[in-house]
Amino acid sequence: MLNNFSDIPLLFYSSETSTPIRHCLVCDRDLLEGAEYMIEKAFVNYPSVGTKDLVWEFAVCFECMHDMKSDYSEESHQRLTEFFQVNMHFDLQVDLEAQQNTNAEDWISRCAITGKHIDECSQYQIYAYCVGNLCAFENAPFMISGEAMDQLIPLISNKTLGAMNDFRDRYFPPPQDLSPLLKDRDFVFI
Ligand SMILES: [Zn+2]
Repeated sequence: MLNNFSDIPLLFYSSETSTPIRHCLVCDRDLLEGAEYMIEKAFVNYPSVGTKDLVWEFAVCFECMHDMKSDYSEESHQRLTEFFQVNMHFDLQVDLEAQQNTNAEDWISRCAITGKHIDECSQYQIYAYCVGNLCAFENAPFMISGEAMDQLIPLISNKTLGAMNDFRDRYFPPPQDLSPLLKDRDFVFI
């Protein structure tokens, strides 16, 4: 069990309500009543002008996440697991946890795969693990750059990528999708 919990960082709040995301995207359960869940947000970043565009954001409970991943092909699942085991580095998270740092901006400041600073990433996705109204500060929050996502996509079978994009189209159908940028990107759910 995770030990190091703190309030959900503002960074992971709903951009619409400026409060914690309340419901699982898939099953709609109330997450703040003690559910275990993951928050994911994707951004396109323009550091030279100090702005970024939100591409998508959602929270999914662990049960729904598990169900969704069970649709992935065995091959994709294995390749993704291997890729993360070899390439994902939690040294930043380990250091910050040791310092009892719960400033989410620090936790997502470098890509967990390439090590690149967030200001040098033109696209990135951020992740947090939460239980009810608390956020775990252990192996997450973390950030994965668009560059690292590009390394992942060839490892995923067409069938699995299709399932991921079906998920995107189902839960972010036009015109409610968060951004026109969404359609240009493969949706990688890790
Ligand atoms: Zn759910």
